[in-house]
Amino acid sequence: MSIRILPDLVARKIAAGEVIDRPFSVVRELLDNSIDAQADKIELYIQDGGRASIRIVDNGTGMDKDDLVLCTRSHATSKISHEDDLLHIHSLGFRGEALSSIAAVSRLQIQSRRPEDPTGHVLQCSLQTEAELRPKACPVGTTVEVRDLFYNLPARRHFIKSASAETRLIKQTLQDKAAAFNTIEFKMQIDQRRGLHLLPAAREERIREMYPSLAPESLWYSARGSGEGFTIEVIAVKPDLYRKDKRYIQAFVNNRRVSEYALQQAAEYAYSDYIPGGNYPVAFIFIEIEPHRVDFNIHPAKKEVRFHDRGDVHHRIVEIIQSALRSNALSIRRAATSFQTSYNLDFPVQTAGSIPAAHTLQPAFNTHKPDRPAPRYDLEHIFTPPVQETTMKYREAEQKFSYKYLGQLFEVFLLVESGERFFIIDMHAGHERLRYDVLRNAQGSQSLIVPLAFSVEEAQSRYLHENTAALKELGIQITCHNNQSWELTGVPETFGGDPHKLLPFLTGETGHRNQLSVFLYATLACRSAVKEGERLLPEQAHQIIQGVFRLEDARCPHGRPIWIEYSRRDLYTMVGRE
Ligand code: ADP
Ligand code: MG
Repeated sequence: MSIRILPDLVARKIAAGEVIDRPFSVVRELLDNSIDAQADKIELYIQDGGRASIRIVDNGTGMDKDDLVLCTRSHATSKISHEDDLLHIHSLGFRGEALSSIAAVSRLQIQSRRPEDPTGHVLQCSLQTEAELRPKACPVGTTVEVRDLFYNLPARRHFIKSASAETRLIKQTLQDKAAAFNTIEFKMQIDQRRGLHLLPAAREERIREMYPSLAPESLWYSARGSGEGFTIEVIAVKPDLYRKDKRYIQAFVNNRRVSEYALQQAAEYAYSDYIPGGNYPVAFIFIEIEPHRVDFNIHPAKKEVRFHDRGDVHHRIVEIIQSALRSNALSIRRAATSFQTSYNLDFPVQTAGSIPAAHTLQPAFNTHKPDRPAPRYDLEHIFTPPVQETTMKYREAEQKFSYKYLGQLFEVFLLVESGERFFIIDMHAGHERLRYDVLRNAQGSQSLIVPLAFSVEEAQSRYLHENTAALKELGIQITCHNNQSWELTGVPETFGGDPHKLLPFLTGETGHRNQLSVFLYATLACRSAVKEGERLLPEQAHQIIQGVFRLEDARCPHGRPIWIEYSRRDLYTMVGRE
């Protein structure tokens, strides 16, 4: 077969498919155009998932008669004129391909009027027929209507999914624009029903309004920062809530939503100390970067972006999020941190039933035994103060911090009211974390009267040799006898359990070599912490409450949050109270 040049119509259809592949890509391009035209109100109407019709009405700068005729031609754009302009793009569009592509695969009608013109015009076009232009009385701005998308590309039409799937994608497209352009009012109507109505709002508010089910208002925060030639704004949810998927780690570069792995990964990394592995945060990241430092001209839908210095941006995202997470320590915690009240965490726990096996591991701590019977906390008493109302007051300088312990719920949660806030504290996680801090801060080692002999594989023996000093710092003393025979001669001072429990760490069976200390102490702390199902004396509950309120980051050693928190407002909202 010899080579031939494709007829223009065929070539345009093929090219159109690159930019416009689904109804939502039409919506994306038309929204971009309205935003580029400085509209501050944009309405979107779709029918049958965009297959029957997509209509976008904006109140932007509009086009005059001559521009209307030109706008649907290939490479017709008002946004750049020289190649150099590609380096300074501030608009969303610049290729002049969207309208010509849409015209090639649908029946397109555009009406437009500029503010300075007495009347507007309407343009009707499709691939086969000559475009037709006539004057029309219409409001200032532009209305674009796309009907019968892909009517002339049956194969493509076939690939369009169900109306509901397309509608979901279209809605997401609109939400992506709305997140970036929070000062524009957006309306969406789906098959004559109201879909969305977003009034101009601060960005954090806009995002919360669009995704109300992601987190209560009190868990959102925003943080900003900058680097050379760029600024970053992060709007995210505190690590108290996280998800099993990455859907809401979203990155925007110069207001375009991009699917850039490195940016997502920066957010994941920043949260990795705060949420358990395999879970993901909710974080919207907005990067404004000088246009010459990025290239969007590498993907037909501009979904990918090439940074000239990606490492820099990545690094700053991590820093900004991490410092926000650190400073997110609640004011309540800051108020409490400076008080040096000593509290005894080593209490034995009064259980309703039998004493769990774990308690046999902590004889060394059991110096303190309450000499009166544990009061019973039955659920029906919980919302009336149990036994006596206990209100603790702390005072330092101007700061006051008081809370009311309301009781124990489901034998695992401590319920605490403080000012306008309500806390549900996981007593096990809280106690575990406090024990963990005590264990970690106690550097000493106690010698075993009878050393424990153990033997290991050759590789593990090498590992122990290399780490003898590091282990000693943790309070674990070991000596090598010959090659693979070892002895455990000392255990951490605060370790009151059976030394045999340490052997799995040393023989390598646990596989947590790198995080030995974290794992070791987390496990030790976990084993000696109060367990679900145990009833606490009020003073024991107070020790945990006061201890956890002092923490800078309220996570248990495994990364789970220690408490959840609701404001009065959150609770009011939940029951629909004004
Ligand atoms: P691009 O956006 O890349 O310039 P398009 O094909 O999307 O290419 O649009 C072509 C031109 O039509 C734009 O450059 C702009 O001048 C004009 N235009 C398109 N949509 C609108 C609109 N909603 N309001 C005003 N002008 C518009
Ligand atoms: Mg465009």
